[in-house]
Amino acid sequence: MKQDSERIKHAIDMATKAHEGQFRKTGEPYIVHPLAVKKILEEWGMDEDTIIAGILHDTVEDTDLTLKDIKQEFGESVAFLVDGVTKLSVARNGMRDIDTYLPETKDNFLRLMIALGSDIRVLIIKLADRLHNLRTLSALPPDKQKKIAKESLEVFAPLADRLNMGLLRVEMADLAFKYVDPRRFEELKTLIDKYNKSAAQSLKKIEQEIGEALNKEKIHFELSGRVKSVYSLHKKLAKHNQNIGEIYDLTALRIIVDDITDCYLTLGVIHSLYTPMGGRIKDYIAVPKQNGYQSLHTTVITKDKRIVEFQIRTKEMHEYAEHGLAASFYYNEQKLTESYKTGKIEHLPTNLLWITELQMTAAKLREGKKVDLRKLKLNLFADKIFVYTPKGDIIDLPKGSLPLDFAYSLHSEIGDHVVGVKINGKMSNLNKKLEQGDVVEILTSKNQTPKQTWLEKIFTPHARQKLLRALRIKNEKDKEKPDQHIPPVKKK
Ligand code: MN
Repeated sequence: MKQDSERIKHAIDMATKAHEGQFRKTGEPYIVHPLAVKKILEEWGMDEDTIIAGILHDTVEDTDLTLKDIKQEFGESVAFLVDGVTKLSVARNGMRDIDTYLPETKDNFLRLMIALGSDIRVLIIKLADRLHNLRTLSALPPDKQKKIAKESLEVFAPLADRLNMGLLRVEMADLAFKYVDPRRFEELKTLIDKYNKSAAQSLKKIEQEIGEALNKEKIHFELSGRVKSVYSLHKKLAKHNQNIGEIYDLTALRIIVDDITDCYLTLGVIHSLYTPMGGRIKDYIAVPKQNGYQSLHTTVITKDKRIVEFQIRTKEMHEYAEHGLAASFYYNEQKLTESYKTGKIEHLPTNLLWITELQMTAAKLREGKKVDLRKLKLNLFADKIFVYTPKGDIIDLPKGSLPLDFAYSLHSEIGDHVVGVKINGKMSNLNKKLEQGDVVEILTSKNQTPKQTWLEKIFTPHARQKLLRALRIKNEKDKEKPDQHIPPVKKK
């Protein structure tokens, strides 16, 4: 464990004194909470200013300490972070009844968070704060438990997902879901446990087979099982009419290898051992998810007829999938000076390059160069809009996105079959730019095929890539048609 720096020790002293005589609902002295937040932020690998702001995050709102005091003792940056967290909590308290702002108006709070999150570290502190409050939720009265849990599910867990903080998203969602629907939680937990038990034996065999095959190819690897979260199973079951037979990732194995080449080699090894299921191979390395997530996914049928999902990724991708943005702070700090000098920034997906920019600025500062400090407070969401599915799921898209971008961001199957769009309940057209807060419903038809002209009605590279691929496949099919006597190429 790293020793606390003098600044951190000083912050702990100040917070302890300030919160003196205050107690949590658990009966413990209040200081336990900020210290827990500090520990979480340290585990996420956050920088010292963020950790200090975490220690002090409740002082301005709840004690006699002022922002001025904090600025004097710890500087501008810490004061800015504490101020952000305070404003967020004051504004939230203003929305007295969580039920009235969820789910229909939850974007109010989300927008507020976005506005205040112009320094993303404000949101990261808020997430750490919420995580500890969820971990100790049992001390609150039941009606408060439910409200906080519901808000966590609808606002904070999606936010963690947007920042690709996978571990946090899973822990938050499951902690919260337990309070929102305790019976369903137990039911599904039992189901997952039972399933895991029944799969244990054959998983062992699969691990062995894969291990031998990878060793033979001299691929260095780590293999582990992935536990499916109760809440994500709940959501998937709802999508598939409660038919558990349609959930293909109940059993999932994760393989971590040294580099990208080994990722693809490993995929080949798996497919030579087991039969891949059609349409279930996903290359999130070439085309990362919008939150920057990277991995290869494939679902196979094993020799004893089990359906198993594999996730293949490098160590770096793994770290990023678990800790997301926080990991980037940590990782980049170590690598940055070098990549800054060579001018090469490669390891982050392009849609998250702003983090690299942030870190480059920090590196310049360390080298004693002059930089515009305002640039450090990059507005992450400035170029983004948030729109909703009719079910209330939040989809974030770049400003300027059109209905087809929305459709393709949901699924390529949806994108390929678009026949129309309703925006806020009214029929609209595919040229209509989406706006903040729109509820977008995509109308599809099985008979529809992707059109060349759609290329002009698309804004995001993500959707363009998907459409181009669909057009290519369609053209190939069209070419095959007139020559019926030539047998089609057999696919393995
Ligand atoms: Mn707090």
